[in-house]
Amino acid sequence: MGLVMATILATDGHSVEATLPSEPSWQEAMKRAIRSGHDLCKRLAIAPALSSSQAEADFPVFVPLEYVNRMRKGDPDDPLLRQVASSHDETLRSDVALLDPVGDLAAQLGGGVLQKYERRVLLITTGACAVHCRYCFRRHFPYETAPKGKTGWSRSLRLIEQDRSIDEVILSGGDPLTLADESLSWLIRQIGAIGHVQRIRIHTRVPVVIPQRVCESLLKWVRESAKPLFFVMHFNHAQEIDHSVAKSLRALVSAGATVLNQAVLLRGINDSVEAQKQLCLKLINLQVLPYYLHQLDLVQGALHYQVTDQAGAKIVEALRAQLPGYGVPKLVRELAGQQSKTPL
Ligand code: SF4
Repeated sequence: MGLVMATILATDGHSVEATLPSEPSWQEAMKRAIRSGHDLCKRLAIAPALSSSQAEADFPVFVPLEYVNRMRKGDPDDPLLRQVASSHDETLRSDVALLDPVGDLAAQLGGGVLQKYERRVLLITTGACAVHCRYCFRRHFPYETAPKGKTGWSRSLRLIEQDRSIDEVILSGGDPLTLADESLSWLIRQIGAIGHVQRIRIHTRVPVVIPQRVCESLLKWVRESAKPLFFVMHFNHAQEIDHSVAKSLRALVSAGATVLNQAVLLRGINDSVEAQKQLCLKLINLQVLPYYLHQLDLVQGALHYQVTDQAGAKIVEALRAQLPGYGVPKLVRELAGQQSKTPL
């Protein structure tokens, strides 16, 4: 991290020149991320009993400092911390929990391309994420089988090119924004050149945890995309949206992208009308439309986050009375083998 000259407001109201540490690049932010529950608890002055090394052996902790800095110190119930701290509950086994709860493996066409719904395909671009969400439905996905880099993606692109019924390509993972802009720019150009593809969608949580990922080189390929770009963010709580995050979301909208959000309903984190309302309000004020509120996918290791369908439906019903229609997400569950998400 270097130093930059900046004008800051002194306590007496006068502006002064000061030397401040510059913001680390997103790549540096990834490198310095916290990688153990013990270190996470230590940094937040919380008893390490919150973390579980057994759970971490299965799914390691990975949390950028930019995200940790938005958590409340000394609060083991912080809604951001609860999404990323390992817990003993993850090691409990249940008959209803699955390794592949949404049928990803059965939907594979080859070359990292998955198709569940008509006209749309999803491309697994990478197994890397900028944060490990403990409730992730792909926490057991065999990413080592997915194609990597331009050579691997060329086969995926050929599959998309050969099927003229496909009009939308979704870049997913892992998280596509952990890839270098040079690779993403290439991929967007290649997909954009396929005549029958009308829209490109990018599912990402990187700008949530490392907002500086929305850098000038990313905005360049967003502006230059030949096809409309949709970013589907993954914010679960209003506390995740601070000044830097808001700035990044505004930059994406200004660059011409449509920005949507999908949240997951999580017990003890956002399962209240107030938490959902605050999240939706912050999003719509930034021109980000709340798109889906997902019921938890029943993945092994995450059932302790489960909220009942009835409780979810009551929350959304209350939101309808308090928010404009475009600010209310659809409550849905993804069921393996269905032709669309199932509304609840
Ligand atoms: S960022 Fe998305 S894919 Fe990665 S761990 Fe979180 S929910 Fe899963």
